[in-house]
Amino acid sequence: MDQKKMKVKVYDKIILTNDTFMEEIVDKLLFVKLKGDKEDTIFVLQKDNIVCPKCESDVKPCGSQVGGKRMYKCKKDCCGYRFTPSETLPKMRHSIKEVVKGLRYYKEDKISLLDVSDILRDEKVFISYNGIWKWDKITTNILKALINAFEFQIEKEKNETKQIKDKDLKFLVKNIKFLVIHNKLINYMLQKKMTTWKQLEEKFGISKSTLMRRLQTTELIRSINCNKKYLTLKEIVEKNANENGIWRADNVVFSTLGTLNSTIVNLVEKSESGMSMVDIKNYLNTSPKQNVVDLLEEEKITCNKFGHKHVYFSLTKSEEQIKSRINIEPKCTIKLDAKDVKFAAQKVGERVRNIVKDAIEHVGIKEGDISIVDVLMEMY
Ligand SMILES: [Zn+2]
Repeated sequence: MDQKKMKVKVYDKIILTNDTFMEEIVDKLLFVKLKGDKEDTIFVLQKDNIVCPKCESDVKPCGSQVGGKRMYKCKKDCCGYRFTPSETLPKMRHSIKEVVKGLRYYKEDKISLLDVSDILRDEKVFISYNGIWKWDKITTNILKALINAFEFQIEKEKNETKQIKDKDLKFLVKNIKFLVIHNKLINYMLQKKMTTWKQLEEKFGISKSTLMRRLQTTELIRSINCNKKYLTLKEIVEKNANENGIWRADNVVFSTLGTLNSTIVNLVEKSESGMSMVDIKNYLNTSPKQNVVDLLEEEKITCNKFGHKHVYFSLTKSEEQIKSRINIEPKCTIKLDAKDVKFAAQKVGERVRNIVKDAIEHVGIKEGDISIVDVLMEMY
């Protein structure tokens, strides 16, 4: 798939009844890819209701049919968009019908990818096991959009074909259930910004392991402090992070890099003059002593002592960082020269003189009688 984002838009509701076969649903679909500056859109149409993917106006067929594909032209004068809807998804050479069939074998019947590839070959559909795996990844978005467009009109009616149809519905419902819960989880997390596994378990009544399975394809980030208790979506952290990839929500800290260790390495790397434990602690709102010890052992960062303080440096930039650190670290030993000594002594002398003067005055010797003070001062 492209790096560009792919949006899926389904035109109109897809009506599902108890009599609808899965094959019928997907057989009715056509796809048009609309290129955009920032994202491309897959426009999903139904064969019996083709409209212009740009302005949703009526269309008329134009040109001749080439290879079973027909070109359409928008009837609206100001638009006039020409397009050729396809039964296959962009970048896929297989029809959606074949894709869904393969995915059913794989997901519903739990047949291994290698065996699905074999079965499909017998049915004259040629795809490698790796290709089926890719189908699964590519179609997730499409299925999700389709499912949002589904409208159920289920009547309870018994007839001969019910069993097969039930199975079709079961597959759909299973996928729907899966995706609906997934959507609900994501919406909840987007709304709450951050949550905990426990909150999710309580809110959705699902165990943590099931939640984790549901969120398998979603990029989650756990807080790097608070014992990794808090959970959020990577997209939320990326949206809110500062230049160091850090997002603080109250006292909880998240990092776009995910783990505390990689975050510390990154901060130390980027710092101008290394980072002390206090620097790291203040920045990340956690005391990662053991992590720092591990990182030193793994030789991901290096350390120098300034007085009693340990400061951590990048492996590659430590020389510059140490130089810069020396300038900001308060001096721990002061070398005194003769001038300093004389100045210090003078200060001490002044103070003693004042103390003696106060003491003498206190015992009643007159102010004017300076000579005694002078005598005493000479003794000093
Ligand atoms: Zn149009």
